[in-house]
Amino acid sequence: MKSYQEMSQEELMQERASLEQQYKEYCGKGLKLDMSRGKPSSEQLDLSMPMMDVLNSDTHLNSRLGTDLRNYGMVDGIDEAKELIASMIDTKPENVIVYGNASLNIMYDCISRSMVFGVMGGTPWSKLEKVKFLCPVPGYDRHFAITEAFGIEMINVPMTSEGPDMDMVEKLVSKDDAIKGIWCVPKYSNPQGISYSDETVRRFANLKPAAKDFRIYWDNAYCVHHLFEDKQDELLDIISECEKAGNPDMVYEFCSTSKVTFSGAGISGLATSLKNKEAIIKRLSVQTIGFDKINQLRHVKFLKNKAGVENHMMKHAALIRPKFEMILKKFEEELKGLGVGNWVVPNGGYFITYEANEGCAKSIIAKAKEAGVVMTGAGAPYPYKNDPKDSVIRIAPTLPPMEELIAATEIFIICVKLASIEKLLKA
Ligand code: PMP
Repeated sequence: MKSYQEMSQEELMQERASLEQQYKEYCGKGLKLDMSRGKPSSEQLDLSMPMMDVLNSDTHLNSRLGTDLRNYGMVDGIDEAKELIASMIDTKPENVIVYGNASLNIMYDCISRSMVFGVMGGTPWSKLEKVKFLCPVPGYDRHFAITEAFGIEMINVPMTSEGPDMDMVEKLVSKDDAIKGIWCVPKYSNPQGISYSDETVRRFANLKPAAKDFRIYWDNAYCVHHLFEDKQDELLDIISECEKAGNPDMVYEFCSTSKVTFSGAGISGLATSLKNKEAIIKRLSVQTIGFDKINQLRHVKFLKNKAGVENHMMKHAALIRPKFEMILKKFEEELKGLGVGNWVVPNGGYFITYEANEGCAKSIIAKAKEAGVVMTGAGAPYPYKNDPKDSVIRIAPTLPPMEELIAATEIFIICVKLASIEKLLKA
């Protein structure tokens, strides 16, 4: 097969004409397809419906310690839920605070608290002239939205196949005390599906930041979200690595059951050193008397323990794996060797990243939209929505039913080819 770069002008124009014909046919169908947000499908949500039956009016709503869960209290969560969250991220229950349904809310709170009150006795960030965050790119748009909302300057750090470029991270944090944090999605990253290598995790744990109040924001959102039973990425536990490195307070780790049970009604957790935890609880207990402990109990009764979570996640995998495999197979068959971009094959998580040729992402997404396929906006995986190469596209396969996803993928492939040819013809 010839790549587009090897084709003559005439061959390219012929190919374009045939693609335009196919494109027009799709446009005429009035399709409404969505590959934009990483939401579970309704079949995935159905997997957790039995959780609705684990409690009823006869259930004694007491914790293991005998506390009445219907009442106020237990700001850091019930012990059994701390154990469940800890088991998902391989840490100790005493390090965990169990929150409400959204880990994003915890992250927002961590930044907000640091802005207003500072980190463990440090100057509140709002009193500083400049606060900066490192942002591995491509990354998660809602992380960048939080730091942007607080006026924090974001600095791009390129991702490699083993995690963020650690030479750059080490150099930047050791020199500049305005750098207060880094956003990380260390396992099955959003959007590339990359897991950080052991070396990357150890280099993180051994950072020597100029700012005493620097924290690693370790968003382990996809900790148990494997696509396969036999091909699973392993991630070192950052909290114990930080302890070993003599940096016990340097990390806040986040996770939730949003994509385990219900995205809108799960439980979430923050895991961190006991010192950090104490400082956080001091503020948190002014914010709330406690989160929804009945939902915590419901999750414990339904998922039970690590093995229960793993077993449940394999049911999710059985539903979403065919969707990932379909897209990747079509990419292999239709795009490989054409010189129109690259993609990473993930072992887990919620996304496939398509890296188009430079200057093509916006055009591909606009074309797809015209044909009825909504994709995540171009630039979304970058701070300030600014993808300097206009090349990264995040594909979210989980939500649409298979037939819709097949049509959306076919349209996407045509758009990739068309945009790449147009770019070459213009050059
Ligand atoms: N972090 C990452 C990396 C995510 O991809 C998502 C969901 N798309 C979240 C956090 C949101 O988690 P939660 O529902 O717990 O707020």
